[in-house]
Amino acid sequence: MKRKINNSLMGTATLAIVTTLLLTVAVCYHLLKNQIWEDLKVYAETMGFFLQMSDESKLESGMQEFEEQMRQNHVRATYIKADGEVVYDTMADASGMENHGDRPEVREALVNGVGRQIRMSSTLEQSTYYYALLLEDGMILRISKDADSVYRIMEYAVPAILFMAILLLAACGILSYFLAESIMHPIKVIAKDVEKVEEIEAYEEMKPFIEAIKSQHDDVLDNARIRQEFTANVSHELKTPLTAISGYAELIENGMVNEEKEVQRFGKEIHKSANRLLTLINDVIRLSELDDSKTEEVLEPIHLWDSAQACVDMLQFSAQKHSVTLTLEGEDAVVMANRQMVEEVLYNLCDNAIRYNRENGSVTVRVENRLNKAHLMVSDTGIGISKEHQERIFERFYRVDKSRSKSTGGTGLGLAIVKHILLKLDAEIALESEVGKGTKITVTFPIARSEQYH
Ligand code: ATP
Ligand code: MG
Repeated sequence: MKRKINNSLMGTATLAIVTTLLLTVAVCYHLLKNQIWEDLKVYAETMGFFLQMSDESKLESGMQEFEEQMRQNHVRATYIKADGEVVYDTMADASGMENHGDRPEVREALVNGVGRQIRMSSTLEQSTYYYALLLEDGMILRISKDADSVYRIMEYAVPAILFMAILLLAACGILSYFLAESIMHPIKVIAKDVEKVEEIEAYEEMKPFIEAIKSQHDDVLDNARIRQEFTANVSHELKTPLTAISGYAELIENGMVNEEKEVQRFGKEIHKSANRLLTLINDVIRLSELDDSKTEEVLEPIHLWDSAQACVDMLQFSAQKHSVTLTLEGEDAVVMANRQMVEEVLYNLCDNAIRYNRENGSVTVRVENRLNKAHLMVSDTGIGISKEHQERIFERFYRVDKSRSKSTGGTGLGLAIVKHILLKLDAEIALESEVGKGTKITVTFPIARSEQYH
């Protein structure tokens, strides 16, 4: 991370330095060039003016001194005929000089009146500027001067720029260190102690991450609390039947139960408590199976009507025992589900509808195939559930009337299992209930597409 920031900062700095170097050199070179051309032009025009004079005037006007001044400034003048023959040169013997007719600046001057050319010297450090001027009498006056080449200017600029580069790169190093530190700070704090997530003052971009960690942390705490509560509840629920079993068994052991009828009664109580323990343990095991998200259930097309029929048949005896009529109506609907799960849902809903009913009440199971959904409805004419309990009955171990549920053998896990199963099957559950009138629970499954079961 630090490395990344450092690299990108250094990259930017290097780019900035190189661009600055190139721009500075380009601007300086441009200014220098303009200055030289301007100088040469002035020299050429002045000298041209002198050359047009008569010899005496030349002496009087001080042309000699002007030439001397030019020499001191390393400016050279060459006087050339239109055919290229050199007539006079301020720095060399004109007779020894070759024909200048092919020089680009001379040719340009012949055409345009003025010709300009820069030629690199062999060392690359210097270049020579030539300014040629066509005089009125057809002669050419060429003024030239050596000056630093563009490479030389670059050489001048390099030390200053290098110094700046070192400064900048050092600054980048320090900056990237502090930048990375400030970015990493909240993460480091969380990594050390997740509890501190509440206290962190994160910067704007960091907030979604902090929020995610916060909510995950809360989830973990919630889960831990739910588990802890569940364990406490299970232990508590186990205690009652076990205490009963232990008590009755102790009475028998101590010979306190003599009559055969009494032994039978106590045996029945022990049997009942043991069955309760078994149901409870089975339900807890089932819940933990459902909690295990790794197990993938096998889904197959299920005819809801057939499953409901089987359930109604199975519970008919229990319904008679409670003096409740149990009927099935509606039509078939096919859903993609797990057979055991559908049976569990049906059983739990019907079992509740029978158990929390009144004498001579009724339970109706209805299957509907409507709007591309399969609806399974279990309605009863029972005691109903008041508003404040309606949301909570799906919680583990939640029972509205503890004594009534216990006396009928309920553990309070049935609807929790149903809710869990429906979550896995992508189905929804809705509850309508009125105290004293009855309850209607509707489960809505996505319907199986025909190609899935034909
Ligand atoms: P279990 O189903 O494990 O034997 P249970 O029936 O007590 O025990 P749930 O099925 O989870 O547990 O139901 C929770 C509570 O909701 C019940 O104790 C009961 O008070 C209430 N309840 C559920 N179904 C109905 C219903 N059809 N009418 C009235 N109350 C109901
Ligand atoms: Mg139940």
